[in-house]
Amino acid sequence: MPVYTSEALILRTYKLGEADRIVVFLTRDRGKKRGVAKGARRAKSRFTGALEPMTRAGVAYYEREQRELVRINYVEPTRSPLAAGTGEALGHVGYFAELIDEWAPEAHVDERLYRLGASITEAVAASVPVQELALYFEYWILRLQGVYPALSACPACGGGLNDGATMPAGEHAFLCLSCARPGSGTSLSREALAFLRAARLAAPERLASLTLSARAARELETAHRRLLALHLDKELKSARVLREMRR
Ligand SMILES: [Zn+2]
Repeated sequence: MPVYTSEALILRTYKLGEADRIVVFLTRDRGKKRGVAKGARRAKSRFTGALEPMTRAGVAYYEREQRELVRINYVEPTRSPLAAGTGEALGHVGYFAELIDEWAPEAHVDERLYRLGASITEAVAASVPVQELALYFEYWILRLQGVYPALSACPACGGGLNDGATMPAGEHAFLCLSCARPGSGTSLSREALAFLRAARLAAPERLASLTLSARAARELETAHRRLLALHLDKELKSARVLREMRR
């Protein structure tokens, strides 16, 4: 039985029988895997504290012939989002992990997705403001899938999008203010667009230095919810929970 060791990101776990868990994790070098962590539900388990969503860890696992589930030998956390300790941040880690899980196909290597996830964990652990971090993460995960609308120019007239943009109802492109019908669709102010341009260049740890007004944050939240709903064909359970928490 070949043993693999890899850097990985824990995405989620399920109960298995009386004492075990199934762990879904994204490896840097071999894509997403599902494995059995024997005894993980016991009070004194070597996996205790290592299986929270978005934990960065060194993982060793065996692949078994003809079996989809690998057998996990150990999970050695290198960075845990629990280090942050703010309830709001911890409320989001399940959401980040669920989005990565949705978009990472089984056993398909996607190092950029892995690096995005790992950088988000570092930012949560460094107590970066979580609202900005969530918008940053949504922007990047949609970009990596190639489905974030262009911000460089209006697709209708080729003009710039510096003063603001609108995503018309039923369309998924940002039009300039002269091409979009006023009062319909989802609007992004100049400030919201500036945040996206900065997010494109900045590492997430630097988000603390970007200011975002409550209004611009709401615009981006609405636009992202529309884009995610379109490309996922469903609303994530964790996203619904987060929205109820905010109310
Ligand atoms: Zn235009």
